[in-house]
Amino acid sequence: MDTELLIRARELLENLTPLKTNCGLLCGGACCEADEDGQGGVLLFPGEAELLKGESWTEILPSPMPVNGIDYGMSVCSGRCDRSMRPLGCRIFPLTPVFTKDGRLKVRTDRRAWAMCPLMPAGIRGLYPDFVSAVQEALTFIAADPEGEAFLRAWQDLEGSYAESPFLL
Ligand code: SF4
Ligand code: SF4
Repeated sequence: MDTELLIRARELLENLTPLKTNCGLLCGGACCEADEDGQGGVLLFPGEAELLKGESWTEILPSPMPVNGIDYGMSVCSGRCDRSMRPLGCRIFPLTPVFTKDGRLKVRTDRRAWAMCPLMPAGIRGLYPDFVSAVQEALTFIAADPEGEAFLRAWQDLEGSYAESPFLL
């Protein structure tokens, strides 16, 4: 993966968040909490593990993706991080990439977010438009690299394996 593309993607989402104000105040930062069993983490994009090497707030664990075994590692944190270093997967949440049948890359809300994110019922239209545009642009940078595109497609397969919310029509 071209590190420059990865860094540009991360920078686009350095300061933008799903709402114009701090959405963590709505939920107590639920997406940073560990699962009930103390597990959970954020999949790292190709090359991110190298960027995070030496960061004391994260442990990088192996995490092969079910469909194709791609493994760039998973960041497991204690619910606190150096915000300027947080993974791209945290920066795009609660959105997820989706390639349309004609190969275009779009974004939509991530099925996995229903478990904890109070923004989900309002859907993508309820999110800060600048954030949505930045996620789209950031993922376009990632998809510009063949390794990045393969990773996004694996991410989409994984996300698609989760059940859709019963609230979604
Ligand atoms: S769970 Fe949703 S509302 Fe809460 S901090 Fe994460 S993105 Fe924001
Ligand atoms: S790395 Fe930071 S933003 Fe990501 S889950 Fe951990 S505390 Fe939350």
